[in-house]
Amino acid sequence: MKIEFRDLKSQYKKYKSLIDDSVTSVMTESNFILGEPVKLLEQELAEYVGVKHVISCANGTDAMTLVLMAWNIKEGDAVFVPNYTFFATGEVVSYQGATPVFVDVEQSTFNMDASNLRIQILHTINEGILKPKAIIPVDLFGLPSNYYEITAIAKEFGLLVIEDAAQGFGGEFCEKRACSFGDAATTSFYPAKPLGCYGDGGAIFTNSDELAETLRSLRSHGVGTHRYDNVRIGLNSRLDTIQAAVLRIKLKALKDHELEDVNRVARQYDQLLSGIVITPKIPDGFFSSYAQYTIQTTTRTERDNLIEYLKTHNVPTMVYYPRTLHQQKAFTSIQVDEDLLMNSIHLTNVSVSIPIHPYLNDKEILYVTDKIKEFYSK
Ligand SMILES: *Cc1c(COP(=O)(O)O)cnc(C)c1O
Repeated sequence: MKIEFRDLKSQYKKYKSLIDDSVTSVMTESNFILGEPVKLLEQELAEYVGVKHVISCANGTDAMTLVLMAWNIKEGDAVFVPNYTFFATGEVVSYQGATPVFVDVEQSTFNMDASNLRIQILHTINEGILKPKAIIPVDLFGLPSNYYEITAIAKEFGLLVIEDAAQGFGGEFCEKRACSFGDAATTSFYPAKPLGCYGDGGAIFTNSDELAETLRSLRSHGVGTHRYDNVRIGLNSRLDTIQAAVLRIKLKALKDHELEDVNRVARQYDQLLSGIVITPKIPDGFFSSYAQYTIQTTTRTERDNLIEYLKTHNVPTMVYYPRTLHQQKAFTSIQVDEDLLMNSIHLTNVSVSIPIHPYLNDKEILYVTDKIKEFYSK
């Protein structure tokens, strides 16, 4: 048996005629940039998530950059990001000339630890070099961060919040959908994300009329009231009409059955793997869209041997993430107290993500879990 880590081919097979027609009509209309499907998708996303405005853009990294530009985050500013995430969450902060401050995560949820966030904010204030401005919690592996705790801390210290929901689309917390938290939320439509297109894409979500207007300008070269009137320095960062045409079909599939199906897979993994490895914890009141299903072993050697064993049996795995942000070469100039980042460091040694997607069938699930059990019985 050969297992796909994330099966985009089965999804295309199921929706081929709808997707092909949708893309073909963009070619027929030749409205490639900000065509009607882009506007319709933005409306559909806003309605699904429950926010006032959606501004689509070229990718999830630009989505965060555009928000930081709109807020004028700059040199001397501190932006708090989890230490355990994809590089882009920290990268966008440095790109603005500001400094990312790395916050530890909870071992059980992989998400930003609110008590460590408070410690890092107080430390930054006491040091008196950087000015705390914003927090970027990440909805890692499909699970929203704890916005109840994080938003309270943001209010207390007067900080802005961007929800990095690149992996979180479709998740829920306290009966609110991911991408509805913070002052702005961002997502990515990179093919392997919970809602992916056929290339790069991204979007920003906000309830602020003023921020939405600035972002629409910023994504098109800082455009003013007419086409060749430019009122601010911006980016060229738009979502292609062709990608919007694909995403409209895929959003419907996600709503209709994919979220349900991927959770069905996760429940089976939970059951079959319980007591064998540490399975991902979804606390009460949370719902995950399972961008990844990430298990934990007890030691690094055990993790690495398990990966090797699964590889020889055609079960693909990925290590998200082999390094924390503070361990990245690009961030070596940023001073940290490693004693405060022990969970994120530990997770780089013991985490491994196993295949998950809405199209994984019972036979495949059993094959994966049997191979894991086989490894532990040796
Ligand atoms: C994928 C990802 C991004 C970046 O999205 P792109 O569309 O690839 O630019 C940012 N943050 C996290 C947590 C991600 O997983």
